[in-house]
Amino acid sequence: MLKVFKFGGASVKNAEAVKNAAAIVKRYQSDKLIVVVSAMDKTTNKLELLADAYFYGKDTLQEIYDDLKTFHFDILNSLFTDKSNKVFADLENDFVELMWAIEDDPSSTFSHHYDQIVSMGEIFSSRIVSAYFNEAGSICQWLDARGIIQTDNTYTEGKVDFELTQQLAETNLLPLLKQHSIILTQGFIGGTSENFTTTLGREGSDYTAAILAYSTNAESVTIWKDVPGVLNADPKWFSDTKKIDELTYQDAIELAYYGATVIHPKTIKPLQNKNIPLYVKSFISPETEGTIIKDSHKQLPVPSFIFKVNQMLITISPRDFSFIAEENLSKMFALFHQHHVKINVMQLSAISFSVCVDMDDKKIKPLIKILQSDYKILYNDALELVTIRYYDQSTIDRVCVNKEVLMEQKSRYTVQLVVRNN
Ligand code: ASP
Ligand code: MG
Repeated sequence: MLKVFKFGGASVKNAEAVKNAAAIVKRYQSDKLIVVVSAMDKTTNKLELLADAYFYGKDTLQEIYDDLKTFHFDILNSLFTDKSNKVFADLENDFVELMWAIEDDPSSTFSHHYDQIVSMGEIFSSRIVSAYFNEAGSICQWLDARGIIQTDNTYTEGKVDFELTQQLAETNLLPLLKQHSIILTQGFIGGTSENFTTTLGREGSDYTAAILAYSTNAESVTIWKDVPGVLNADPKWFSDTKKIDELTYQDAIELAYYGATVIHPKTIKPLQNKNIPLYVKSFISPETEGTIIKDSHKQLPVPSFIFKVNQMLITISPRDFSFIAEENLSKMFALFHQHHVKINVMQLSAISFSVCVDMDDKKIKPLIKILQSDYKILYNDALELVTIRYYDQSTIDRVCVNKEVLMEQKSRYTVQLVVRNN
């Protein structure tokens, strides 16, 4: 059976982790596998700094580049004793490619350059992991995801052309699976019709796994994580978390949308569309069950909590006391859309419209400035957004201890509270 596996940054963060991933793959020798890997550890963050240093001409450029190179070659050196292995030359070439991307003066937008640079993390990682899988005895073929996953040229947030991607998967990926039991490719990245690289949004490797499963009609997707499965709360905030054994697509997409970081929100749709189950399993104890997300009617057994910090509550009101009518709203929504600001919660009153958004200065400041030309704007920052799915009053009371609630919204299954710590 064809399975898609995704190994995230933490599961390939060093030589030990890569060995562990190889051991996991060995457990599935009777299957065909498409393995999707993310950049190793915090590489994507470092590459973001590199893109910034390049575009804005900072003198940290060379230092960041050298640091990335040393990090990857250190891992390679601890994985391979035979230094004549071809992977050393391949990785060297990949770093030459990165050098080319930061050599000449910027000639395009920041987002375009960002994608050409930041995408290299997955190239490095896939190069090392695929060579090591072969070394460890799992015959595996490296594949460039940019030749399969096709997007438009919305850099940093590439929109996938599913039809074309499926065609390319059928002609260029599936035949490879006849000769090799494992195809290893990159998460997070795609290609445009002009052969530029795009990225699919931060943490987008889960989405890649779903796109490839959709395009190849795979039997399942498994995301290997450092947690035992999907938990009802982030262990960062709660000590008594519970693992959820089974989750519906609907609950999974809601939880991911509200900010549960365990799965990328875009992952669910392609899987739901083809009824492909998604497993979330621990790479630390791969023999344990984990969570299965599928088409089912099971409600979550316990309330689930999602905390989002760094939130901002913005209240927008017309200066002349006129009603917030549809005309005003469509104007405001257009501005939010243009500034790529996602609304986490919103609430309407007669003469004001309040939204809770992530506090991302680069996007919010220009948005507020434009809104201010037509509306009165009030805002609070450093807030938290708490979402509880399948809430009851006692769970609400429990999360509100020592917090002041600035906005509350309840639907049948979900409550959202914008709170300030007292
Ligand atoms: N490496 C990318 C990121 O860190 C994609 C991923 O990890 O899913 O955002
Ligand atoms: Mg990552």
